[in-house]
Parts: sequence; structure tokens; C-alpha cells
Amino acid sequence: MTTLSVVPAYAVPAPKAPLERTTIARRQVGAHDILIDIKFAGICHSDIHQANEGWGEAIFPMVPGHEIAGVVTQTGSAVTRYAVGDRVGVGCFVDSCRACEYCEQGLEQYCLNGTVATYNGREKNGEPTYGGYSTHLVVDENYAVRIPDALSLDVAAPLLCAGITTYSPLRHWNAGPGKKIAVIGLGGLGHMAVKLAHAMGAEVTVLSQTLRKKDDGLRLGADHYYATGDESVFSELRGRFDLVLSTVSAPLPIDAYLRLLKVDGAFVNVGAPEEPNSVNMFSLIAGRKSLAGSSIGGIRETQEMLDFCAEHGIGAEIELIRADQINEAYQRVVGSDVRYRFVIDTATI
Ligand SMILES: [Zn+2]
Ligand SMILES: [Zn+2]
Repeated sequence: MTTLSVVPAYAVPAPKAPLERTTIARRQVGAHDILIDIKFAGICHSDIHQANEGWGEAIFPMVPGHEIAGVVTQTGSAVTRYAVGDRVGVGCFVDSCRACEYCEQGLEQYCLNGTVATYNGREKNGEPTYGGYSTHLVVDENYAVRIPDALSLDVAAPLLCAGITTYSPLRHWNAGPGKKIAVIGLGGLGHMAVKLAHAMGAEVTVLSQTLRKKDDGLRLGADHYYATGDESVFSELRGRFDLVLSTVSAPLPIDAYLRLLKVDGAFVNVGAPEEPNSVNMFSLIAGRKSLAGSSIGGIRETQEMLDFCAEHGIGAEIELIRADQINEAYQRVVGSDVRYRFVIDTATI
């Protein structure tokens, strides 16, 4: 056991305030814990939502970051899954109740008693959690995943949120050969959805507001690319898709998108608009269609996703930044000016 350690971090001191360098205390390495030397941390749009309290009251100071990749530097006495030197990742949660029916099924993200968020959350003892914009993290070994050697840690970091958030619904709704998948939006989530659905063997179409990123979309694995700013696209693509996956947080005309589905097709949201949306039930009734959502993935499925990415040579497209560029990066994420994920080199913290 080591003593509680004080480590450097970048924190949001108060709602909407810029991030600044500070120090935080990490708990001592318990029997079931591993100490991770964080190498890279991705910047997810939800980091910004939470720093701005866009999703409700938050805990400050806040150290965001739930796309974490690093190396194990110490293990607790009872740890069996990892050894010093192992390459590991941590995603959006660091604990759950471990007893409810969903935890038992490996669907910890839907824990009936609530997961412990990697940051802006509270441990079971009430202590606030701090995320990946830091040099070190102590986490229970059961809430870490192994990053295969074939994946570089920098491009692997965003897989821990953007990757699993898109992989899980693609698997659940059976993306694969013979299936036609539409991805709405080509951002952090969307570009991962395109790569993953393509690797699964599906026919992939990107639906974006403009054709600005068309070349990128096709290079990343899309078969088709349409601008939804052109109304005629909705009649041209009517009844085309088995699955439409929305990765955007802007409100969408749901009924128009439901018309793009085949019979039994599903419109699935992983992007989260802040305001409620309405849907005409006839849009679902005609064609036995589903309107659904999906949240990240469990630990087991996150490991499966990383192994799949290693096998298919898939990482995120990233812009690597220094820690003193985080505030600038936040502004660029808000302006959709990133291709396609900012990743912080935590050696610069
Ligand atoms: Zn995220
Ligand atoms: Zn549970």
C-alpha cells in the first residue's frame, strides 16, 4: 500500500470557467486497485457539457476526461488481471453496484443503482471522482480494459467513449454484411461509427448537413455520402436503411429520418439533444419501426471493441495537443472544428 498521492491535473474550478493547472489527491492503491500512469486522454464533447453544467448541477473543481489510455505502474495485493507494464484504458465509469441484474450481465452502464462516473461523480464513500486530464489514476482492476499491442495508446484513448458508444449499438442492431447503415453526423462519434460499421461489413452511408467532409467520410469507409441540407435526399433514400444511427446533439426532424428506414428498421440515438423532441406515432406504426437509444457499453463489450479495433487496425483520427491547449480545443470542439478527436498528451500536464 502506498500513501495517498498528490498528482498534477487540469481542472475546471467553477461552472463555465477555463481549465487551469492544479493538483489533486488520488486514493492509495487498495488490494483490488491498479495505479495507471496516464499517457493520453481524449476530449469528449460531454466534458464540455459537464464543465458548463449543461446537463445539470456538477461537482467542482472538475477534472474531466473519460477516454483514458496508459500503463499500469503498480498493482494491489489482490489484483489478478493486470501486471506492471500492461497497457490499459478506462472509460466513462470506474465502479457500479456489481450486484444488480445488469451488472451481472456485464451491462454495467445500465446499473440499476447507478455507475460511478469517471469524473463529476462520487465514489461509494462519497469522495468526488477526477478524470483523465491528469498524470495518474487509481482504479479497481475490474473497471479497466486491456489495450492490445496493435493499437497505439494515443489513437486508442477515444475508443473508450466514442468507440464503444458507437460499437455497442452497431452490434446490438446487428450491423454486418447485407445491412445498410446510415450514420448522422461525421464528428467524434460519427467517424468511429463509419469505421466500425464498415469493418463489420455493413454498407455505410453518411448523412451530414453539407458535403464539406465528404472526402474524409469516403476515406474512413463510407460507401455513400449525402448532404441533408438538400431536401430531395429524403425522398431519394426513402425506405433504404436497416439502422439509422444519430451521433449529433442537435434536434432532428425524427419523422423525416424514420421514413428512411425499412420495415423493422431502427432509429437509434447516441447523441443527446438538450431539449425534448416530438415524433408522430404513425411514423413508427407504418413499417413496425423502432425509436431507440444506447449508452456507451459494459466492461466486457468495451474489451471486445478494443480487440475488434486491434484486429481491424482501427483507431480514432486524432489531433494531439498539449495540456495548455485544452481551453482552445474546447472552443474548437464547440465550433465542430476538429478532425476528429482532440487527445491530450498528458506528459505536458
Ligand atoms: Zn464521452
Ligand atoms: Zn448494478
